[in-house]
Amino acid sequence: MTTILNNTSLKSLHTFRLPYSARKIIEITDAAALAEIEDAYYVLGEGSNTIFTSDFEPTLARIAIKGIQVERAVDAHYLSVGAGENWHQLVEYTLAHDMPGLENLALIPGSVGAAPVQNIGAYGVEVGQYIHKVRAWDKQSRTFVSFDQQACQFAYRDSLFKRNANRYVIVEVTFCLPHAWEPTLNYGGLTELAGTRSASAIKDAVIRIRQSKLPDPKEIPNAGSFFKNPVISQQQYASLLERFPQAPSYPTADGNVKVAAGWLIDTLGLKGFSIGGAAVHTKQALVLINKANATGADILTLAYEIKRQVADAFGIELEVEVRLLNHKELIS
Ligand SMILES: Cc1cc2nc3c(=O)[nH]c(=O)nc-3n(C[C@H](O)[C@H](O)[C@H](O)COP(=O)(O)OP(=O)(O)OC[C@H]3O[C@@H](n4cnc5c(N)ncnc54)[C@H](O)[C@@H]3O)c2cc1C
Repeated sequence: MTTILNNTSLKSLHTFRLPYSARKIIEITDAAALAEIEDAYYVLGEGSNTIFTSDFEPTLARIAIKGIQVERAVDAHYLSVGAGENWHQLVEYTLAHDMPGLENLALIPGSVGAAPVQNIGAYGVEVGQYIHKVRAWDKQSRTFVSFDQQACQFAYRDSLFKRNANRYVIVEVTFCLPHAWEPTLNYGGLTELAGTRSASAIKDAVIRIRQSKLPDPKEIPNAGSFFKNPVISQQQYASLLERFPQAPSYPTADGNVKVAAGWLIDTLGLKGFSIGGAAVHTKQALVLINKANATGADILTLAYEIKRQVADAFGIELEVEVRLLNHKELIS
């Protein structure tokens, strides 16, 4: 079914809850409809990584395709999941049916269709590891296309879909959860679970840690990490360490170093710093919040100011992780 919504408030459709509206939203529950309707400019999932900084003129699409189909093969469970399913509910479903693998990604807000776009990740696991196939509508060729894991070009908070912004409308994601499962416990507060073989216990721990660290968007509007953790060369890292020996960092697979963006912002004393109604969260420097009646301009000015201060102090360019939209297009 296809539903058209005109002049609709976006406040409850993105977690930063800015009071803007969309001229037209097309909601679809059936992939086949994509071939018959106009192409929307931007696909909106649950809006937890999207900030509308103004009223939005071009057409939006919301993909409400539901369904989880499970196939048990010799090596793994293969789950084909509609893009409109909720991510955390999928994680709960897999664990309730004894299919471990996604537990470290519990409680990440958003839809299944958005998960491959920025290759969601947390506590040492990225969703791309478990993606077997992505089926999407290609607005350029106006056909349905399928991408295997390699073709998705997953990288840190990145993928083919993110790099070709607005080209593909993901309708279904197929996950491969191998029967041979090993827990990933080398991150954050999970190390104390060493030795556990219970994916549900890991999921519960992840939920507890996340709830203690991150503001709940239902109470404090936010879009999660506003900036990516910057990846710098060994040489840049050595010079950073000379001035800041305590800078937290993680090695990357390609020999570079990922630095904690939250630490950079915190070190500049910016926790709680605000411009208009937008602020840096007082407990988590990587999260910007809508403190009270923030405007799009408040957020853009705050983000610009943080980027400027980090560049001046550390010589590091922060890259915005969230998707920012102005009145007519994606601006990051
Ligand atoms: C409190 C909080 C904590 C978070 N923690 C994490 C975390 O730990 N790790 C992490 O990686 N992210 C995290 N995020 C970010 C966010 O949860 C993810 O990016 C999530 O995948 C966004 O899903 P969504 O449906 O809300 O996407 P939206 O914000 O609606 O869209 C995000 C992007 O995906 C595209 N998109 C959405 N659906 C489709 C589709 N069907 N086809 C094609 N493109 C589509 C959009 O066009 C946009 O580019 C957090 C966010 C919040 C608010």
